[in-house]
Order: sequence, then C-alpha cells, then structure tokens
Amino acid sequence: MADYDLIIIGAGPAGMTAAVYGARASLSVLMLDRLAPGGKMIDTSEIQNYTGMGTVEGAELAVRMFRHTQELNVEFDYRTVLEVQDGGAEKTVVCEEEGRVYTAKSVILCTGTTPRLLGATGEERFTGNGISWCAVCDGAGCRDRDTVVIGGGNSAVEEAAYLAGFAKSVTVVVRSRLSADPIACDKLLGLDNVKLYAGHDVLEFCGGKKLEAVRLRSRETGEEFSVSCGQVFEYIGQIPATGGFSGLGVLNERGYIEVNGQMETKVPGIFGAGDCVTKNLRQVITACADGAIAAQSAARYVRNLN
Ligand SMILES: Cc1cc2nc3c(=O)[nH]c(=O)nc-3n(C[C@H](O)[C@H](O)[C@H](O)COP(=O)(O)OP(=O)(O)OC[C@H]3O[C@@H](n4cnc5c(N)ncnc54)[C@H](O)[C@@H]3O)c2cc1C
Repeated sequence: MADYDLIIIGAGPAGMTAAVYGARASLSVLMLDRLAPGGKMIDTSEIQNYTGMGTVEGAELAVRMFRHTQELNVEFDYRTVLEVQDGGAEKTVVCEEEGRVYTAKSVILCTGTTPRLLGATGEERFTGNGISWCAVCDGAGCRDRDTVVIGGGNSAVEEAAYLAGFAKSVTVVVRSRLSADPIACDKLLGLDNVKLYAGHDVLEFCGGKKLEAVRLRSRETGEEFSVSCGQVFEYIGQIPATGGFSGLGVLNERGYIEVNGQMETKVPGIFGAGDCVTKNLRQVITACADGAIAAQSAARYVRNLN
C-alpha cells in the first residue's frame, strides 16, 4: 500500500497551493522541497501583482502560504528528489538523502525553474563572489556600490529598481530593449541613479580577487567599453528544473512538463503545476492556479483508483 495519497515535489506557490487543496480534499499529503518552503518568492523583494495583497514582500507571502499548509496538517520534509518512477497505481519518489524512497498514489511535479546563466567569460570565477541571481539575498552587499543588472524583463527591471534604493548606481544592460511591463520600466528609468545600456552584449566579467568591471559591446556600433561595478545581478531567464522526470516521458524538447488544462501529464496519476509546465505566463498567481487545479485532478484520480 502506498505511503501517501499525494506527494507534491516542490514547495513554491504551486506546490503549497496544491497542498492546501489536496489536504482540503481529504488526501494524505507529503510535500517535499530541497530548500525552505517558498520557492522563488523567497528571492523576490516585493510582489506587487498578487490580487488582494497590494505590495507584499516575497518572503512574507511564502511564510503565509506555508503556515496555511501547516494549519491543514500537510506533512513537509526537506528532500532533494532525484527521480519519480511510475508503477501504475503506485508511484515511487526517490530522494538524494540516504536514498530515501516514498510511495504515493499520485504525484504533482512543481519544481519550478532555475536561473539561466549568461555564459560570458569570468562568470564561473565570480559566481557567488560578485555575481548573483538574487537581489534579496545579496543586495545588501551592493550598498553604496556601483551595481550592474543584466536583463530587461520584469524580474530584471523590478529587482533593479529595488537595488537602486541603496546601491550607489545601477546600470541595466540588455541585449535588445526592456520588455518589462511599462509601469515597471517607467518607475526604473525615473530613478536618478539608474542608467540603461540597451542593445549591448556582456563580453566579460573582469577583476582580480574581486569583481571590478563588466565589459560590454554595442550591438549597433561594435564599440567595446567597461562599466565599473562591485556587484552584478543576472536576470536573463529561467530553465525548467525537471531533470529528474525525464524517465517519465512527460517533458517537451525544452524540458518543460507537458500538461493539459487539468494539469494532467500523459502518465495517469502524475500531474504538473507552476513554472515547470508548458505555459505562457509564469507568475505566482498562475502557479497557485495550476496547483489548485492539479490537486483537484489528483483527488479525482485517487477517488477513482480507490
Ligand atoms: C527575481 C524574480 C522576481 C519575481 N517577481 C515576481 C513578482 O513580482 N510577481 C509574480 O507573480 N511573480 C514573480 N516572479 C515569478 C514567480 O516567482 C514564479 O512564477 C513562481 O515562484 C513559480 O512558482 P512555482 O511554485 O512554480 O516554482 P518555484 O517558486 O520555482 O518553486 C519550486 C520549488 O521546487 C523546489 N525544487 C526544485 N527542484 C527540486 C527537487 N529536485 N527536489 C525537491 N525540491 C525541488 C525548489 O527548491 C523550489 O522551492 C519572480 C521571479 C523571479 C526569479
């Protein structure tokens, strides 16, 4: 007999919402995450587009969602999931820690995405020592220092505005042009200590023991020059964290989980939700919506199985 009705892998907004809906549907639920619950919300300074919350710190929303799961007695454990195996009515979840294995009647995959790396010279050398992917975690290190943000989407623009609140200067570098919401772009470009280099490639991260500058090249003129900085933040997109699920045959060619409108994969009893599934808009609110639908589908599946 399976250990649980439902195992949820990933405790971001998708996973935590699935847990709430799963528990309220009377399923026995285990939620696993390799890190603290909250997912990318923990790394986000402010969330300003979650209906009803106005502006809320990402970490606060994460705590509120986790508390909600705990009020419903959802079991949570720190585990890195290596693989999910489909055994028909019983799925097996294999974890890294001591080879721990759990079984469940149904599984929801909510592992989100990880940041895409730029691949420029010097990136590896300065990772964690001048280059970061989390303004909330490492923003304090750029107080009164020149800072560079790479990227032009919502994440880049919103985090750049946050950093401009305490950095000496923030230079935003983007290959083409800003693609974030107009309201966020206007706010950023209205700040005195922000400069934008649109249409520029990052060639190299330069420095000795510490990062000292970023070398850029204009796509229009080919001109190369350096921008001094003590800290760089990269926000150039995400890649799905789905490597452990390739054996299920549910991934598309880009590694995203293919689901239908009910969040069902083609494997009965395996569902996907949040940023790791094929979709157009990757946001907290859409991750929550996916999680709710996936849990409802899982509950229906488990009822039919029983
Ligand atoms: C800098 C930044 C700012 C953002 N700002 C906003 C915003 O203002 N508003 C908004 O709506 N959205 C924002 N987003 C997007 C939003 O954060 C995501 O859409 C949302 O977090 C996706 O939720 P999720 O649950 O699908 O995945 P995630 O939040 O990525 O959570 C996935 C979880 O799965 C875990 N996990 C991964 N692999 C494994 C494994 N093998 N085993 C166990 N656990 C695993 C991870 O540790 C993580 O906790 C922002 C994103 C970024 C990067």
